[in-house]
Amino acid sequence: MTTSLTDTRSSELYRQALEVLPGGVNSPVRAMRAIGRDPIFIARGEGAELLDVDGNRFLDYVCSWGPLIHGHAHPRIVAAVTEAAAAGTSFGAPTPGEVELALEVIRRMDSVDMLRMTSSGTEATMTAIRLARAATGRERVLKFAGAYHGHVDGLLAQAGSGLATQALPSSPGVPESAAASTVVVPWNDPHSLAEAVDRYELAAIIAEPLPANMGLVPPRDGFLELLREQADAGGALLVLDEVISGFRVASGGAQELTGVSADITIMGKILGGGLPAAAVGGRAELMRMLAPSGEVYQAGTLSGNPLAVAAGLATLALLDEPSYLRLASLTERLADGLRGAAAAAGGYPVEVVSAPGLLTVFFTDRPVLSFEDAQACDLGAHAAWCRELLSRGVYPPPSQFEAWFPSLAHTPEQIERTIEAAAASFVALGDPGQGS
Ligand SMILES: *Cc1c(COP(=O)(O)O)cnc(C)c1O
Repeated sequence: MTTSLTDTRSSELYRQALEVLPGGVNSPVRAMRAIGRDPIFIARGEGAELLDVDGNRFLDYVCSWGPLIHGHAHPRIVAAVTEAAAAGTSFGAPTPGEVELALEVIRRMDSVDMLRMTSSGTEATMTAIRLARAATGRERVLKFAGAYHGHVDGLLAQAGSGLATQALPSSPGVPESAAASTVVVPWNDPHSLAEAVDRYELAAIIAEPLPANMGLVPPRDGFLELLREQADAGGALLVLDEVISGFRVASGGAQELTGVSADITIMGKILGGGLPAAAVGGRAELMRMLAPSGEVYQAGTLSGNPLAVAAGLATLALLDEPSYLRLASLTERLADGLRGAAAAAGGYPVEVVSAPGLLTVFFTDRPVLSFEDAQACDLGAHAAWCRELLSRGVYPPPSQFEAWFPSLAHTPEQIERTIEAAAASFVALGDPGQGS
């Protein structure tokens, strides 16, 4: 199925890709199956815009799923990466930039005294869990339904992101033993949390402080504080996965916004500025458990890669306090505009949920407080709306269970154009009462 977009070249590439890449892609959500169309192959990015292989231009609200807080091909970041590449792409030996980046992260994140870099958020999560288990001598980990922490075996149970999109409860190939050490609790449900902490000896409670992989579903008042209290009461470590929220919602991530501190923090996406980099960080005595200062093994051929470090440093250098205020107000304007657009289209029932630098348009008339609520949305209408947006030059995350990522490259004029496209797309869906 396709929209009215010209997509001859994309279709051709997709046909070829299907022969050599499972599903034609290297990560599931890119296939756009959840919105009932074929993927769009990208030729280049310029600021807030994507150009596809057929010559279509889109205002991009995926921005590589979060890393590109300065938009595509920011000249300072491109220059930093180019300069680093010319000096050698990888050494398997320490480089000065790694120390500089660690100092910059530690300056921003209060709860982080030391960190270990990895190439992906998934690896950082694996390391966080291994550390928590080593530190507590316990195995079980509590996670929340709809949260996504990468494709770590044990944490795929009731995970968000691509799993939610494909409606997979978990994944075949995950050993029962791995799933058995995971306890899954509904998000924003204090009673279930307390019960689970009471019942199980937990190594860790792991959470996205601003869950954004079931769509954006912020914690209710006091819920993050309760995570901290319950972790302490149960002798578990609190692992906050700030792969999305870190360096986005505030300089010091969701921990700065909420005042709730983690024992272990997982970072990624913006940290690598569009190149593969992530990290796990925490108090020095915990982090020193990692080899070679301690016995908990962890390693990576490309960990702390000079190109990724250069991109991360350049990205963070461009993130000062005024830029956070600007991103927050830009996001607010977009969220308000999308609400207005739905209202203008005869009161189309959506819940627009936003935080600084990200938002989700839920196709429902009820508040979304949990994965269950998110799953109850009108996925068909959401999919149709996304296809309408694409045909009007706006590239939204192609799934109800993801967040929009506006960037600092998005101009007020581009935000207004997005709102107009959204309004026309709501109108095109017709009367919500009639089904779609
Ligand atoms: C993207 C993401 C991850 C996984 O990071 P990868 O680099 O894709 O492995 C982990 N946690 C959260 C919250 C994420 O959004």
